[in-house]
Amino acid sequence: MKKHTVIIGAGVAGVNAATKLVDNNYQGKITIIDMGKSPYERLPEEVMTGFLGAGGWSDGKLTYHTSIGGHLSKYTGEEKAMELMDQVIDNFKRFHPNPSEVQCSNPLEEPDFIKPYFGLRLFPVWHIGTDYLHDIGKNWYDYLVSKGVEFKWNNKVTDIDFNNNKLKYSALEFSYEYPLEYDTLIFGVGKSGIDFGKQLADKHNLLTEPKPVQIGVRFEAPQHHFQKLIDISYDFKLYRKFDDEGVSLRSFCTNNNAAYVALEETYGDYSYNGHAKKDKAFRNDMTNFGILMEVKGIDNPFEWSRKLVEKVNRVSIVSGEGANGEKALGRYCAKYQAGLYYSPSNKDKSKTSEGDWVKAHYIGKDSLEDIRKAFKGYFKYIEDFIEDMKKVFPTLEDDWGIYIPEVKYLSPEPLVNYNNLSLTKYPNVHFVGDALSARGITVSGAQGTYVAEYIINNK
Ligand SMILES: Cc1cc2nc3c(=O)[nH]c(=O)nc-3n(C[C@H](O)[C@H](O)[C@H](O)COP(=O)(O)OP(=O)(O)OC[C@H]3O[C@@H](n4cnc5c(N)ncnc54)[C@H](O)[C@@H]3O)c2cc1C
Repeated sequence: MKKHTVIIGAGVAGVNAATKLVDNNYQGKITIIDMGKSPYERLPEEVMTGFLGAGGWSDGKLTYHTSIGGHLSKYTGEEKAMELMDQVIDNFKRFHPNPSEVQCSNPLEEPDFIKPYFGLRLFPVWHIGTDYLHDIGKNWYDYLVSKGVEFKWNNKVTDIDFNNNKLKYSALEFSYEYPLEYDTLIFGVGKSGIDFGKQLADKHNLLTEPKPVQIGVRFEAPQHHFQKLIDISYDFKLYRKFDDEGVSLRSFCTNNNAAYVALEETYGDYSYNGHAKKDKAFRNDMTNFGILMEVKGIDNPFEWSRKLVEKVNRVSIVSGEGANGEKALGRYCAKYQAGLYYSPSNKDKSKTSEGDWVKAHYIGKDSLEDIRKAFKGYFKYIEDFIEDMKKVFPTLEDDWGIYIPEVKYLSPEPLVNYNNLSLTKYPNVHFVGDALSARGITVSGAQGTYVAEYIINNK
């Protein structure tokens, strides 16, 4: 009988794994289960789920360095890690309708004008753009279907019995749970499945390594203030460290030209991220990036930041058109939960690429005190970061706004075998991507590819 490889999550990791398998004429059956939609049906607001997962609606910045985007070389070694990332980048080019549009930014040295306030991380990054990702997704999906991969869309895996190689999944609108057996399981549920991963780790007593949490804000300003640096590095990563205080900060995931702030939901709370389109029609000449802080020495950092995120979410009721044009869901009142937005010059929030206001509650200067309390004193590092950016980019002044919070919950990293990312207790269950504490497209895709190579070589 044919061996059955089941992949949970059609995200970047799962899709790259399946691609490597079919490219190598894998003789087993491949089933991919995802709680989102196919690239033909996925809606713009479905940021986290569906074909290519969070990566499919992202900005498509493909970073190319082993110190960016989570652990890869720790498992594979440096040289192998670079080779795997090459394969992921090649896949994005291969399914791109116009591969010459994929540009690479590769800063070689730190410019003097950012010193002494910031350091700049130096690494190459390829930029795809959200809109091209949609086309890439369709081409890529068609290829996998043509190779016999079976997709189960709008289906959520609800339980896994690692001891008996069985799982249960159900269609989102129904409660009936279907059983499914596997020989090999690839677990690539990304950030949207972080709670499921934790639940399984608890149930099966999986050994995990706790991870620090990274939290901050999404900063937004007209692009011209940052152009000098963008010309050197598209996805610039400014960083600074306060070793004695156990705090480090960096700018993260910079979007330019046609840059939009995106609302993300994790654990029922809202936080912010960003993406950028390539098509000139979407150009808004804005820049947005995260200012993320990592704090050492906090007991249970995961719970700490979840509470923080909860405190800076607000709920209001909107009926009809909200004060700023936010659409209520249907004709009646709608619950409107989101994070917060602050601008020292009372700039308006920006709009999404669909023309709706980014969901966030306006706050004034007075409310900053509440934010400082919620961040337990650590907000001053973000405020200082912004103050110093005003020195480095003198035209910036108060021409900016921040969306609060941006958060990177890193899943507790399960202990895996380094040669194939399988659980130390269950050698046919492989964890990949953000579910294994990656935090980027190339690393997630590379982990999926790495596992697929192992499956092919050990069939
Ligand atoms: C707005 C935004 C912009 C980003 N921009 C960039 C960027 O420019 N560059 C970069 O490197 N990274 C970026 N990222 C991060 C990047 O997208 C992720 O690191 C990457 O997608 C992780 O890949 P993954 O396969 O592990 O998970 P994902 O891509 O998140 O895929 C996980 C999939 O699993 C499915 N799933 C979850 N739980 C279940 C379940 N129980 N049952 C069935 N299916 C399930 C989800 O529906 C989803 O499709 C961005 C993220 C966001 C949200």
